[in-house]
Formats: sequence, structure tokens, C-alpha cells
Amino acid sequence: MNVIEVKDLSFVYGVDTPFEKKAVDNLSLSIKQGEVIGLIGHTGSGKSTFVQMLNGLIKPSSGQVLLEGKDIWEKPKEIRKVRFKVGMVFQYPEYQLFDETVYKDISFGPRNKGLGESEIDETVRRAAKFVSLNDKLLGKSPFDLSGGEKRRAAIAGVIAMDPDVLILDEPTAGLDPKGRDVLLSQIISYHKERKNTIILVSHSMEDVARIADRIMVLNHGRLEMLDTPRAVFSRVDELESMGLRVPQITRIMTILRGKGYDFSDGILTVGQAFEEVVNLLKKEGKR
Ligand code: ADP
Repeated sequence: MNVIEVKDLSFVYGVDTPFEKKAVDNLSLSIKQGEVIGLIGHTGSGKSTFVQMLNGLIKPSSGQVLLEGKDIWEKPKEIRKVRFKVGMVFQYPEYQLFDETVYKDISFGPRNKGLGESEIDETVRRAAKFVSLNDKLLGKSPFDLSGGEKRRAAIAGVIAMDPDVLILDEPTAGLDPKGRDVLLSQIISYHKERKNTIILVSHSMEDVARIADRIMVLNHGRLEMLDTPRAVFSRVDELESMGLRVPQITRIMTILRGKGYDFSDGILTVGQAFEEVVNLLKKEGKR
């Protein structure tokens, strides 16, 4: 079943001004319930504008966003309901923490949703656990947390809304490699348990390759590709012409293919490359 369907979707900033800019240009696509989509594109390619249209934060200039088959703008007064179903973690979400305690911050969404006190408590603790936020931290002020903890507390606040679709805009931006790995693993295990739909916006190809079922590539507001990571990363030259850097191992394997080595295309990880090399050596009787 399609959870999201987008039809001829466009967004123009500054209509009728000298700064008029078409940020999203006539996109049509559908996303199935439970899919993990990696959204990549150069800065300014329209990623943020696109995802903000998915949860009704901005209204399309033209075209439609259907959520479970219904146009989200059919009843504009009910647009808030869409934001409960489509949760968004913004870039640097830790700047949105504002309450006295981490607990109060995470409970803000469920409380707004009208849940009872015991349900709120259960939801907050479950969300905190998903992002490995220790119970002891819940009573602290968000400002006393470390950078990584703040980020996880902010993500817990969105997870606590239990959204059917979770959009994460550059969730690992500014984290060190270890923090990045931990956060990605948490997102993967959250998805395994909840089986909800996830859209991960990133300019790290490595991150999206690890997590996505399909990768969506935007360039100048247009949808250039929407396919499996392997199919997308087999188009190295096109990606590079859009200013996107493919994983280094993908690049190396592509260069070797060009030199006549019989490797598969779209290799994404060192592990896959290793297997390819071992197989090739076996074929040539060298191992
Ligand atoms: P990305 O998330 O891929 O970096 P954005 O959706 O933020 O891309 O931006 C797409 C285009 O729209 C860019 O050219 C950007 O400069 C322009 N843009 C984004 N926000 C605004 C705004 N509030 N006003 C005018 N132009 C904007």
C-alpha cells in the first residue's frame, strides 16, 4: 500500500518577485508503507522544501500530496492532524528543546495529542529507550545534556508522537563518526521494530546506502532517480555531474571496471568489494 503519493508537485518561492525560485519542480512518485527512502541531492536541490510539503508545513504551489490516498490539503483546517502522522526531525533539532526537563520536552507531542498521563509516561519512556537515552537524564534540563544526548532527546520527542511516516532531515549532521554510527543504528532498529515509513534526508551517500530500500535523487528541484541503492550508485558519472560524491569504494570499483576488471556495478561497501575481488581471483585461479 502506498502511504504517500505525490502528484505533479511544485513549489515556487517569492512568486512575482525578482527572487522567484522554483525549488521543487513537478515531482510525481509514491512511497510504500514501511519503506525507507534515502533522499539525496546537492545543497539547494529542493530536499527540505520537498519534505516540508509532505507534512503540510508548506503548501504546494501546484500538485498534490496524498497521505493514505487523501489529499492533505483537502481540509486545510485539519492540516495539524497530518503533522501527527508525518513526524519531522529538523536539522539540528536540539535547538528546538525548550522545556524545563527532558521528560517534559519529550512528552510535549503526546500531551498535545490528548493522551492520558499513564499513556504519556509509557510513550516517553519507550521513545527515550529507542534512542538509548538513560532514564536518569529525563529529569534533567535539556541544557545540561551533551550534544549527542540533546540530539537524541529531540528525536525522541518526534518518535513519541508515534508517526506513521518519520522524516529525518540530516539527522547525523555535526556528529562525530561514532555518534553518527550510533544514531544510524538506532534509526535502523527503531524501523525494524515499528515498521513505519522513514525518509532520511542526507548528503552522506554512505549513510543512505546503509539504511535505504530506495534512494531518491533531487537535482535543481527535479526527480532525477528513484531506485535501489545499487542501481543509483551504478550511475557514478551522473551523480558526480550533480555534485554528489559517491562512496569512495564505489568510485574505486567503477574505475577498475572501466579498466576491464569484471566487477559488478554499484558496489557500496568494502565488504561487497572484498567479495567481488575474492570471486574474481578464484575465477582466475589465483586463490
Ligand atoms: P536543500 O534542502 O536541498 O538544500 P532547499 O529546499 O532548502 O534545498 O532549497 C531549494 C531552493 O529554494 C534553493 O535554491 C534555495 O535557495 C531556495 N529557497 C529555500 N528556502 C527559501 C526561502 N525561504 N525563500 C527563498 N528561496 C528559498
